[in-house]
Amino acid sequence: MSTTVEFPQSLILTPAQETQLRHLWSLVAAAQRSVTLHLHLRAAGHEFPLVEVVDAALGGRGGSLPALPGPDDRVTRPVHHVDELLSEFRRIRDARGWSTLVPAEAFEAVIRETCAAFRTLPPHPRFGDLPATWPVSQPLRLSLGSSVHLIDPLSIEVAPLRDHARVLADAYLLPAPFWAALQRDQEVQLDRIAGRLKRLDAAWLDSGDVDAAAQALQLRARYAGRGLHRRTPHTLLDGNLPRKCTRVLIREAVRPGLPTRFEVVWTFDVQGLALKPPRSGDTIGIDPGERHVYAWATVTDGGVVPRPFHGLWRIQTPTLDGDPPTCRGPHDFAFARAHQRWQLFQRLQPVYEGMLERCFSYRTVALEDTDFAGLHAKGRPFAAYAETVGLTAALQWIVQLAPLHDVEIRLVPPEYSSRTCSRCWLRSRRPRPGEPFVCATCGHAEDSDVNAARVHRGRALQR
Ligand SMILES: [Zn+2]
Repeated sequence: MSTTVEFPQSLILTPAQETQLRHLWSLVAAAQRSVTLHLHLRAAGHEFPLVEVVDAALGGRGGSLPALPGPDDRVTRPVHHVDELLSEFRRIRDARGWSTLVPAEAFEAVIRETCAAFRTLPPHPRFGDLPATWPVSQPLRLSLGSSVHLIDPLSIEVAPLRDHARVLADAYLLPAPFWAALQRDQEVQLDRIAGRLKRLDAAWLDSGDVDAAAQALQLRARYAGRGLHRRTPHTLLDGNLPRKCTRVLIREAVRPGLPTRFEVVWTFDVQGLALKPPRSGDTIGIDPGERHVYAWATVTDGGVVPRPFHGLWRIQTPTLDGDPPTCRGPHDFAFARAHQRWQLFQRLQPVYEGMLERCFSYRTVALEDTDFAGLHAKGRPFAAYAETVGLTAALQWIVQLAPLHDVEIRLVPPEYSSRTCSRCWLRSRRPRPGEPFVCATCGHAEDSDVNAARVHRGRALQR
C-alpha cells in the first residue's frame, strides 16, 4: 500500500524571483490555453495543428482560428493521444526557445492534467461543459520536480531562477523522517556529482583533457551553490524512511480570508511506513492554542502543553541607525526573520513530535478545524502566530501522517468550543484568557483549554 503525503512550506521571494516565476508561469499557462483551445477545436470538428493554435494564441491572432460553437451546442469528445500532443508541443517549445527557460516537467504536468480533464467527458458533451482555458488570473502553480533542491533548513534552489536561484523557504518545517529523506536524496546526488568532478579533474590535470575541464566547469557552475564538498551520505536509513520525494510544486496559495503566499509543496509516496498501530481505541480531543501549544482530552484524562518560550513571538524589525548600510537590505531582514522563525520552531519541535506521538496512540483524533481566516478578520493574530512558530505545519503533519498510523482524523467545527460545558453541553460565559472554564449551569470547572479539547472530542463522537 502506498500513501501520498504532502507538506507545504512558505517561500519568501524577492521581487526579482517573483517576476521570473510569473514569467515562467505565463509560458506554462499559454501552453494550457493552447492545448485546451486545440482540443476545443477538435471537439467542434476542426483539425488544427497545435503549432498553429499556439501561434494564433500568442500572436493575438485568435481571430484567424475557426469560430467556436455556442455553449449549448453538442460537440464530440475530442480523441487525442497525450504522448502525441506532448511530442508536438516539445517541438513548438524548442522552436520558441522555451526549453532553456522552463523545465520540461512544468509543461508536461500541465498538458497531462489538461488532457486528463477531457478524458472524463461523455461522448457528446455540451460545448460549454468542456474544460475551460485558464484565465489570466489563474494562481501560479509550477511542477518543477527535479529542478528544485534543498540547500539547507532555510533555503532551496529553484534552478530555473538562475542568478536568483537561492530562495528563502521555511524548509525545516518537515517531520523528521521526511526531512532526512529529502536530505539523503540531495546528498546522494551531490555525492555522485562530486565523484564525477574528481574523475574530470584528474582527466584534465593528469592527461591534459581540456574537454574534461570544460565539463567540470559546467558542473561547478550548476552545483557549486548547493555545496559540493559534502560528506558521503549519512546512514540514517533504518528501512522506515519514506522513499524519494516524488513531486515538487511551487504555487501561489490563495487562502480565503488570509494573505496569499507562495509555497513549495513536497510530495512523498510512502510505502508501508505504518509504524506502530494505535494503542487505544479511544478518541483524543486536541485544541491548538497560543498560551498552550495544545490541550488534549481523552475519556479518562486531559492536560495542557504550555508554550516552551516566553515573551513575544512576533519579530520586530530593529532600527538600524548607525549600522553599516550593508545590513539594511530588505532581504537581509527576510533572512534574519526566517532564522528567528527557525529558532522558535526548534524550541517547539519536541512538543510537536510529542503531540504526534500522543495523537497516534489513539484510534481517532478530534482536531479543531480552526477558523484561521475568521480569527484573522477579527484582528486576532492566531493565524500569524501559528504560521510563524510552525504550529500550522505541525497540525498538517497530523492530518497527513494519520493514515500511515491507521488513525482517523475528525475535524470538528470550532464554534463556541471555549464557551460550551463539556459535562452538561450548555453554553456559559467565555472564560477570560488564563482563567478556568466554570459552567454557570452545572458548576463544572476545568482548565478552559482542556474543556475545549473535551468539547472537540464530544463533538467528534456525536457524529
Ligand atoms: Zn455544565
